[in-house]
Amino acid sequence: MEVLIVGAGVVGCAVAWRLQQAGVRCTVLERSIPGAEASSAAAGILAPQAEADQPGPFLELCLASRALYPAFVRELREASDVDVAFRPCGVLAVRFDEAGVEEARQRIGWQRARGLEATWLDAAEARSHEPELSEEIRGAAHFPGDAVVDNRLLVSALTIAAVRSGARFVTTQVHGLVERGGRVVGVATDQGELGGDAVVVAAGAWTALVPGVLASPGAVRPARGQMVMVRTRVPICRHVVFGGHGYAVPRTDGRLLLGSTVEFAGFEKQVTAGGLAAVLGVGLQLFPRLSGAPVVETWAGFRPHTPDGLPVLGPAPLPGLFLASGHFRNGILLTPITATVLTETILGRPVSLDLTPFRADRKALTL
Ligand SMILES: Cc1cc2nc3c(=O)[nH]c(=O)nc-3n(C[C@H](O)[C@H](O)[C@H](O)COP(=O)(O)OP(=O)(O)OC[C@H]3O[C@@H](n4cnc5c(N)ncnc54)[C@H](O)[C@@H]3O)c2cc1C
Repeated sequence: MEVLIVGAGVVGCAVAWRLQQAGVRCTVLERSIPGAEASSAAAGILAPQAEADQPGPFLELCLASRALYPAFVRELREASDVDVAFRPCGVLAVRFDEAGVEEARQRIGWQRARGLEATWLDAAEARSHEPELSEEIRGAAHFPGDAVVDNRLLVSALTIAAVRSGARFVTTQVHGLVERGGRVVGVATDQGELGGDAVVVAAGAWTALVPGVLASPGAVRPARGQMVMVRTRVPICRHVVFGGHGYAVPRTDGRLLLGSTVEFAGFEKQVTAGGLAAVLGVGLQLFPRLSGAPVVETWAGFRPHTPDGLPVLGPAPLPGLFLASGHFRNGILLTPITATVLTETILGRPVSLDLTPFRADRKALTL
């Protein structure tokens, strides 16, 4: 069996790796360099609990992927020789006012009812975990099961693992699908037509721009996120810390990622004065001592956003076509489970999770 994969972000590379391991020959078609887009722009937070607003299938998908992570990164290290700096460090979601405290307590309540570990820490307890936190905080929700990975290392590791497992990478732009007899049999590229038994579109925020893949051009849209990296000699925190409308993500060498905006600005990839001010504002509110920290990098990337906030996973209505897209804010987290369920679906094996909520022909994507 031969599979063509459009897009070499973390999703396309992970699907290629898993399919190759299952004996399927994969060609990954990437117009730029692997991981050039959202997968490198991300912060690497693996936080189903800090991110979830309610129980339901999306939370279950995210939890299933988080559960896969420790074994996934071990296997990836064996395959690539790259340590992707996975750390089960936990998340502190800091609150600065009474309304925020109440919202956090409710979140902790329904998560505990679901059997998840989550606790409220008052300000003194939170600061005993993270002494550099502002004295203005009212407390923090603690989600010890949430984690972090270095997503840029993850991109490298997945690319190496996919190549070593036999996947072929081709630099080319995909312009459309090739259909015969009501079935997708390949793709049209700037190097001509390429044939395959199946096509997986993992083109991130550009998925709906590949003609014929989704019913509506609004089914997947770019949601720009701006990021700032600062540096301190000694890491200012050990947990991932959420607060206000953003977060701070420590790398162990003193780099600290601050993020992020969520903007619908088309494919305009610049950082802006307002965006950077907002992101830096979150960092300084959490950790006032950062005001003296040098800014070492700024960037923006495009999350693949869907109207209902859910990813698109599994077979498309057209036979031969499969989708792995729309991961929005959680594509790094969802990489292991996406690769697993896509491989199962393409090989016609029983699928680990019910993919009905994530179908490509659901109503929210066709309006
Ligand atoms: C600022 C920011 C912070 C984030 N933080 C987190 C986080 O902390 N945790 C988390 O889990 N997620 C996070 N995300 C989301 C995560 O980055 C994405 O959901 C994930 O990277 C999507 O991966 P992907 O492989 O689908 O897309 P991408 O990485 O965007 O890859 C898609 C690839 O397809 C290629 N492509 C597109 N169209 C074509 C075509 N026609 N022909 C050939 N190639 C094509 C592109 O060049 C690109 O390389 C963040 C995103 C951003 C922008």
